[in-house]
Amino acid sequence: MLVEGAIFDIDGARRAYVRFRRGRIVETGAIGTDGGRGRERKLRGIVVPSPVNAHTHLGDAVSVSEPPPGPVAALVRPPRGYKFALLARTSRAEKRRAMRAALGRMLRDGVAATFDFREEGRSGVELLREAARGLPLRTFIFGRPLARPVDPVELATLLDLADGVGLSSARDETTETRRSVARACRARGKRFALHASEAVREAPTDYLDPRPDLIVHLARASRADLEAVREAGVPVVVCPRSNALFGRQPDLRSMERLGLTVLLGTDNAMFHAPSIWRELEFAYVGTRLRHRPVSAEFLARAALVAPWRWLGLPDAARVAVGTTVRPLVLRLPPADPAYQIVTRTTEHLMVRSRPRETVPVGER
Ligand SMILES: [Zn+2]
Repeated sequence: MLVEGAIFDIDGARRAYVRFRRGRIVETGAIGTDGGRGRERKLRGIVVPSPVNAHTHLGDAVSVSEPPPGPVAALVRPPRGYKFALLARTSRAEKRRAMRAALGRMLRDGVAATFDFREEGRSGVELLREAARGLPLRTFIFGRPLARPVDPVELATLLDLADGVGLSSARDETTETRRSVARACRARGKRFALHASEAVREAPTDYLDPRPDLIVHLARASRADLEAVREAGVPVVVCPRSNALFGRQPDLRSMERLGLTVLLGTDNAMFHAPSIWRELEFAYVGTRLRHRPVSAEFLARAALVAPWRWLGLPDAARVAVGTTVRPLVLRLPPADPAYQIVTRTTEHLMVRSRPRETVPVGER
């Protein structure tokens, strides 16, 4: 199969053709140099790295009705928020089913990795590992220890299974808890992340100490806060739809101008479909609504490039022969690729570069 049009990847956007054979890239080059071989299938489109959903709470997919009104804290703040009560009264089998369905939905969207904040201690991590078994989707799990003060034995067994720890926020946890968690993560080569400045502004001196590997939200951060985050070199995951539900938006324009590393996530699965394409479009439209526009390229990189770098897998963000992760073909006009990707991608416009049977669907 020959795709003529454009590539958007870690090296930016360019007019190009990409030749696939049995789902793998065998050749790329400048338009007009492909030689037009034989009778292979030809189509126009944009070839991109697979997107990453950099912040989910897939356990929340057990919620099937509209969440009750109220501030976000009443819904998601541990230990007594609405979602924690819901998780506590839902059976393990039901939670596993709901998470697997959400993972299946992401797969059909072309998502190749998700960074999930999984509550409920080690058993919560086990459940998501079980739910994700056999699916060709990297599930990077930030677990959360239950005991306070932190029990070193519990934390160690959690980290045997999790890829890191994701805490609620600096204001929900003591400095000692954050430090002991960060120390344990460092010692084990795992990642430490937390939410910051979601519903109320928190001080960077709190959420950057100890230095996390990733922070989520910054919807209430000032420009000076963003500068502090940039100076600390900490990447940020933004979740514009989730924030909008509670009347806020991250200042994406300042983030772009200051040169922060930004990733994109869909947050709680009880609020929104875990669709990275919807998140991209909303992020773009939201900045226009506030008269604080950002470039489409900035957002496209947040979904397609920055997370792969964060994982230490830059090659996965490159559309080239030998890439480690399956790229996607978006059947969109090749002019202005980042704009097309951010505003016009829907699952119906995607074709897979591998045969369908390699993508198990949702529930079993
Ligand atoms: Zn979150």
